[in-house]
Amino acid sequence: MLTNDELAKWDRESFFHPSTHLGQFARGEAPQRIVTGGEGSFITDRDGNRLLDGFAGLYCVNVGYGRTEIADAIAKQAHELAYYHAYAGHGSEANITLAKMVMDRAPKGMARVYFGLGGSDANETNIKLVWYYNNILGRPEKKKIISRWRGYHGSGLMTGSLTGLELFHKKFDLPLAQVIHTEAPYYFRRPEDGMSEEDFSTYCAQKLDALIQAEGPETIAAFIGEPVLGTGGIVPPPAGYWTKIQAVLEKYDILLIADEVVTGFGRLGTMFGSDHYGITPDLITSAKGLTSAYAPLSASIVGQKMWDVLTEGTDEYGVLGHGWTYSAHPIGAAAGIANLKLIDDLGLVKNAGETGAYLNRAMQDAVGNHAHVGEVRGEGMLCAVELVADRDERRFFDASEGKGAKVVAAMLKRGVIARAMPQGDILGFAPPLCLSKGEADQIVAATKDAIEEVLG
Ligand code: PMP
Repeated sequence: MLTNDELAKWDRESFFHPSTHLGQFARGEAPQRIVTGGEGSFITDRDGNRLLDGFAGLYCVNVGYGRTEIADAIAKQAHELAYYHAYAGHGSEANITLAKMVMDRAPKGMARVYFGLGGSDANETNIKLVWYYNNILGRPEKKKIISRWRGYHGSGLMTGSLTGLELFHKKFDLPLAQVIHTEAPYYFRRPEDGMSEEDFSTYCAQKLDALIQAEGPETIAAFIGEPVLGTGGIVPPPAGYWTKIQAVLEKYDILLIADEVVTGFGRLGTMFGSDHYGITPDLITSAKGLTSAYAPLSASIVGQKMWDVLTEGTDEYGVLGHGWTYSAHPIGAAAGIANLKLIDDLGLVKNAGETGAYLNRAMQDAVGNHAHVGEVRGEGMLCAVELVADRDERRFFDASEGKGAKVVAAMLKRGVIARAMPQGDILGFAPPLCLSKGEADQIVAATKDAIEEVLG
């Protein structure tokens, strides 16, 4: 068996990691971890650590690790039919069954689902469908997409453009010209202290309206947003936000894409975030929770209004010129079926709501009054702790101090994984939906101790 040192060396010399400092890693100056296994909410690594995964991988291992039901379903599918494509009307029993299961669970008004591999490609598909739709309707100028600052929608060329985080733009010549960004619904960072949540939602809707007016409503095709901002800081929307935003979109005949890559299949305590906030999207993007990451699979779910036009389009243009080799991959589909069954059988949507609320309450009680905690916020099985230099003035630490990353490192020493969110000193939590109250207590205790160690 290879030693840890040998593996670490090969890793440094052969692979480059996503979201990693390339130079530091290659020089052996950045942390490395080789993960070996997982059970429930815990992972193990080659150094003998057993860590409580407070972020479910990348908010994706929703049913937890080590589920033999899913592993067995994958193995059975691989033996029977590892692959056949889905072009020109082909498919597998697995992908057809999963499509039916997804549509049975989708919010009202959805018509069809297309399967890809991950959240980024599902968003690419959705943007292409939006453009196709407007071409069919004879309005080729209606193509711009509005997303929010701090939104996260992937890291491809289009999806990286939609993502509203500087790290994903600078040095890549993004965003592309068709993408524009509007205000993030981030109440903690509201422009004026006196604003209520409803006032701030009105302010966001007015900003959106003004942007649309300035660009010309006839040029704006769609608005994309996560029901709860995820990677941008785990930020639930202020009261009234989605109602006010949807009213603006309706006024200008602009499509709404709900990016439910994080929130889809239970994370907020409802099957979809759209159900949770009364959002009626034209398109839904989903991935992560669809298979709990046991195999890569994404879903682009198309609403009836668009579906009717898209089918007209192929009558006019011929075959849809879009598809991946691995669209509707049978192994991903088999994982998806077993995963959705487990979510039902174990009542994980309900647990996400209940244990998520417990986690958020316990976190608030434990650290909410700390001098360097500006806010504890969350929804369902999502929670964030925003660290500040001064809570009364809502003044932030200088980014170069890396306070969030230091607290996360201090938590690791205590056996708990949190995520230092990429913009701001924000500790992010998105545990598996099967989290127990005892595990929630463990996350909270490690957070409290680590904050006290680093920030006093
Ligand atoms: N949309 C959202 C809301 C996401 O959180 C992510 C991934 N974190 C993506 C899209 C992109 O998904 P992927 O990394 O699977 O391409």
